[in-house]
Amino acid sequence: MTKWSLLAELMSLSMLLLMFLYYHERKTAFSFRRRVFYWIFGLSISSILVNIVCVYTIVHYDRVPVALNQLLNTLYFILVLLVSSTIALYIFDLILEHVYRKDCYKKAVIGIAVLTAAYLIIALTNVWTGALFYFTEDGHYARGPLNRLGYVILGLELVMVLLCYFRNRAAIPQKVVRVIHTLPPVVAALACFQFFYPEILFNGTITTVVAFILYSNFQTCQVEEDYLTHLGNRKAFISDITLKIRSEQPFQIVSVSVRHFSEINQKFDHAFGDDLLFNIGKWLEGLPGHYRTYRYSGVSFAVIFPYQDAAEAEVRVQEIHQRFSQPWYCKNIPCKLTACTCDVVWNGQLWTSNTVMEYLEIMVEMSKAGGNPLIRFNNAIAVSIEREKYLEAVLRSSLKEDRFTIVLQPLFHCRKRMFCCGEALIRLNDYDGTPIPAGEFIPIAEKVGLIDEISWVVLDRVCRFLANHRDLPLESVSINLSMQQFQDPSLLPRIETCLQRYSVPRGKLKIEITERVIFQDLAYVRDIMEQLSRHGIGFYLDDFGTGYSNFSVVMRLPFECIKLDRSLLSQLIENQNSKEIVRDIISLFHNSGFRVACEGIETAAQSDIVTALGTDLIQGFYHARPMEPEAFAEFISGYRPQP
Ligand code: C2E
Ligand code: MG
Ligand code: MG
Repeated sequence: MTKWSLLAELMSLSMLLLMFLYYHERKTAFSFRRRVFYWIFGLSISSILVNIVCVYTIVHYDRVPVALNQLLNTLYFILVLLVSSTIALYIFDLILEHVYRKDCYKKAVIGIAVLTAAYLIIALTNVWTGALFYFTEDGHYARGPLNRLGYVILGLELVMVLLCYFRNRAAIPQKVVRVIHTLPPVVAALACFQFFYPEILFNGTITTVVAFILYSNFQTCQVEEDYLTHLGNRKAFISDITLKIRSEQPFQIVSVSVRHFSEINQKFDHAFGDDLLFNIGKWLEGLPGHYRTYRYSGVSFAVIFPYQDAAEAEVRVQEIHQRFSQPWYCKNIPCKLTACTCDVVWNGQLWTSNTVMEYLEIMVEMSKAGGNPLIRFNNAIAVSIEREKYLEAVLRSSLKEDRFTIVLQPLFHCRKRMFCCGEALIRLNDYDGTPIPAGEFIPIAEKVGLIDEISWVVLDRVCRFLANHRDLPLESVSINLSMQQFQDPSLLPRIETCLQRYSVPRGKLKIEITERVIFQDLAYVRDIMEQLSRHGIGFYLDDFGTGYSNFSVVMRLPFECIKLDRSLLSQLIENQNSKEIVRDIISLFHNSGFRVACEGIETAAQSDIVTALGTDLIQGFYHARPMEPEAFAEFISGYRPQP
């Protein structure tokens, strides 16, 4: 009679129980895979327990009825096979997660079902056939001719897994590939061991090792799950996009970024905000035909759909977009949300997941900037994004190579009939010599955080110019500053240092800021302006009429001069109304003690009108275009006041 060692089975049982306890503690969404994993635990634990009991009943056959021994051993044989079939099902689900075509999955399920059913028939009829095992007349346990059939079926399932793996290699995540590379050799080695040492019971150990590998790789890992919504997180989103592209499966991404969500958090509380985000995620997850849903950043969700045709894709975008025109309910409180919906389709383009993420982020920005709540990716967007990326590279290298230059545009003093000041404007040529308009590269420099460095170059050049031309009859030269420079704590010392380095009187430098800068953080900007004004540095308000045109706020800030934007003055000749408005604006500012400059004056007629309306200064191509610093110096010194 064989003496079986139960030590390995007992150790495996305790390992499985421990894993199960840890696993059960985690509260996550009850996905199909999680359900299957519960089955793996349940079946494995039961099979080991039944095995232990069987060893007892076989050894003590004289005290146990044969029928009970038959029943327990049959149960054990069935359980062992169910464990291996459930594990195979779990692995198929992992492998085929990112594959749209489910025919492979169906074949795998049918294959497992057929093998399991055949085995079950053999196991259930074993009592008559004795194919797997039987009991001799004196009650001893004996192996039947098909005793090792379980191993054969395990081997067949392994072969099916490997076939499926090789057929869908491109769509399988790296983590699954790693597991597929380790699992079969480990299982084969353990099975061989069992084959050669049948007296050491080892089946439970094989299952435990497999369960442990799957558990540690896929079931404990929250790395790819969003903690709040249980949807995929940014990491999962990026890796799924990579897989879809690699496996050449066209897809559509519809992303939704909720705007002004901080207002919800403030109005209610953060827990309410979290619940609302959870509800949005749940709704998106419930959309039919989707592949997976993600929360890829705080208030940004995305759904990946398999892409079939444009009409279907459009229906999906519209459904999501329309949903955000309806209120969302959270704790029975209706909340109206604004969101921008972006639609991107990948159908074979030469993109990477990074490209897709970049496009999505830029589309959200475009939607915010343009106030358009629905943006579909198209060629024009791709071209502008590529141009932006190119310009960013040019800006970076130009900073390193000191390729920026400045031009100075004279401002005409209407009463004195001469040029009294100038504005410094940055210039940059592309490497082929084509000028890049400031209006194009400045916003990019602001976005990528380079405007600061660029503007310091301008400050330095202006101070150098003023130092080299001390005798020019020039009141001042102004430079343009952006918000980022206002936020730079070294703003004042930097300006001071630069003025001192070139010994330029403080009053000679003026700073132009726009209303956009003011309204980003009014209190902060006022504070900085007051500090700089106390140091003798004056401010001009640039582009008045393009932004908020909030007189009451502007009037409370220490500006010396208000520059009316070109757009405000473009209708002066044709439109009497526009003339009256500009007259009122000028007199309002005059009454409050500000000087007024008119920008973008291109013709004599425009110049005459704004002069008649009372402007103090005129800046525009009619009087003088921006020019190189030396040309500007010559222009100013050589200019004779007109009668
Ligand atoms: P801005 O400060 O309002 O500068 C005036 C812009 O109007 C300049 O364009 C100038 O060339 C243009 N301009 C002047 N007279 C006329 C005219 O009669 N007709 C027309 N059509 N345009 C005229 P530029 O140099 O392309 O600059 C565009 C904007 O870029 C500037 O507007 C300013 O906001 C920004 N910018 C320029 N240089 C700098 C800089 O060094 N730093 C920062 N932060 N921004 C700058
Ligand atoms: Mg300006
Ligand atoms: Mg301007």
